[in-house]
Amino acid sequence: MSGQPGPTPIVIADPRQMRDLILTARRAGRRIGFVPTMGALHAGHASLVEQAAAECDDVVVSIFVNPKQFGPREDLARYPRTLAADLALVGAKGAGWVFVPEASTAYPAGHATSVVVAAPAADFEGAVRPGHFAGVATVVCWLFNVVPADVAYFGAKDWQQTVVVRRMVADLAIPIAIEVCPTIREPDGLAMSSRNAYLSPEERRRAVALHEGLVAATERWQAGDDVAAVEETIRASLQSRDIPIDYARVVDPDTLLAPRPGAAAVALVAGRVGTTRLLDNALLPPRS
Ligand code: AMP
Repeated sequence: MSGQPGPTPIVIADPRQMRDLILTARRAGRRIGFVPTMGALHAGHASLVEQAAAECDDVVVSIFVNPKQFGPREDLARYPRTLAADLALVGAKGAGWVFVPEASTAYPAGHATSVVVAAPAADFEGAVRPGHFAGVATVVCWLFNVVPADVAYFGAKDWQQTVVVRRMVADLAIPIAIEVCPTIREPDGLAMSSRNAYLSPEERRRAVALHEGLVAATERWQAGDDVAAVEETIRASLQSRDIPIDYARVVDPDTLLAPRPGAAAVALVAGRVGTTRLLDNALLPPRS
């Protein structure tokens, strides 16, 4: 139960040991769920662990601040690291194993292989953060080899990441199922994120503009507005709180290309609140 201390998970740093544990458990017929994270865990991550624990016999959480998915001017050095609290949280939610690799094992001397997912990684986060998704896909591919679980859990909050990971798994025939779980929000609607810790109180108040813009956009979508008007609704919300916009777009949820008439779509938004980049999205239902 939330708030109660849970059993302390077993912490594993050695990829060989991690893989052997998973393979042994699977040979014994156990279903393994995997939740990859960068740590600084919050209720959003906890919901993924809970979902995995509800559907699987054993749950592995990885905590790895992956240097290859940060650009040279990004926040790798100051990214929050809260390992002791993270272990308590995931233990309470039902994770038995936590994989905490060293960067030198993920990227051994001479490392030369990169996984590049083309189309769905090119726009949005891919355009603002060159190389980001190559870093993500490379480490997730490595993690899926080291943690050969039955199913991996990702948050809808990082919608484009779920599209990129699903594309990679399909294209490389990686034998793992991908499950996408709903975005967990603060009471005012702000999507939970480890990066919310960077916001000053004043920035934190303005940050709700992303969610508010998406709520208003969803209403406009359901009222029948065209895509340009729906996108403009999101932009207006960010502008009203002085948040510079990286993108505010409505696209097809699977391809991230132009939405298909009548079909469901996803609204993607990213902006900069002070020096902190925030992302959010909303699924827009099919309409006739
Ligand atoms: P991160 O540690 O930020 O790399 O995130 C690890 C996983 O947690 C990713 O699959 C994220 O999409 C997911 N996640 C992050 N924030 C949330 C949230 N607010 N709700 C649900 N999932 C989340």
